Amino acid sequence: MLKGKVALVTGASRGIGRQIALTFGMAGAKVIVNYNGSEAAAQAVADEIISKGGSAEIYQCNVADFAASKTMIDTIIKENGHLDILVNNAGITKDGLMMRMSEADFDAVININLKGTFNCIRHVSRQMLKQRGGRIINMASVVGRSGNAGQMNYAASKAGVIGMTMSAAKELASRGVTVNAIAPGFIQTEMTDALSDDVKKSIAAAIPMGTLGTTEDVARLALFLASDDAKYITGQTISVDGGMYMG
Ligand code: NAP
Repeated sequence: MLKGKVALVTGASRGIGRQIALTFGMAGAKVIVNYNGSEAAAQAVADEIISKGGSAEIYQCNVADFAASKTMIDTIIKENGHLDILVNNAGITKDGLMMRMSEADFDAVININLKGTFNCIRHVSRQMLKQRGGRIINMASVVGRSGNAGQMNYAASKAGVIGMTMSAAKELASRGVTVNAIAPGFIQTEMTDALSDDVKKSIAAAIPMGTLGTTEDVARLALFLASDDAKYITGQTISVDGGMYMG
């Protein structure tokens, strides 16, 4: 499905990003597994792709760093001649009630989740316009559509990602570059493992389908959006949330 394509997946050392990297690798793409701190985990993802006959390499970069993310994307383009798919998946949470939220926790989440997404879109778009084709997939969240107590920073970052997705889609559409977002609900990863059992139970009760989703549920949609089959879909935010948000 992605044979001959080069894909950059940010934050691919674990969780949803890892599963997207594995899925794209098995679909024939050469995958650049980006990480910030977890080198061994990122290498394990690349090794798994290679051991199954695919092609992958790792690249350390803090996506919140404008200059470093430019260097990463320029290097990938120089080494491969093209960059066809960008998945802006890297993200963090620093939860806390708004009245007690520190400035540092607000800034950290906005810088990685929102500015990191801007940085990578900004740096990849010239090449994608030149190629007259490309796929950009941004990881939003149900919380960016509905808000959540204790996540004002995170919800703002993800609502921002949704607005950014529509704006970039409008700027890039005429040259065959699509930009879409995925809004996962609660997916079983280290990010949600950190929640207490009580919180997990109350979350599950708020999901019409009654259970948390899997990373595969998200990766399958990412694969579709990255494929030629999705060439006429742009500017959309698609939920993978067991029915949590129906808008
Ligand atoms: P996760 O398990 O915590 O993994 C986060 C990934 O992001 C790691 O690979 C981490 O790598 C990377 N990362 C963090 N900061 C980075 C930075 N500054 N630069 C580059 N990479 C960085 O998270 P997840 O649950 O898979 O979530 C992935 C995405 O889906 C996030 O955008 C998240 O907001 C979104 N999402 C998740 C859920 C959910 O229920 N899990 C729901 C909705 C949306 P290092 O360890 O190397 O830093």
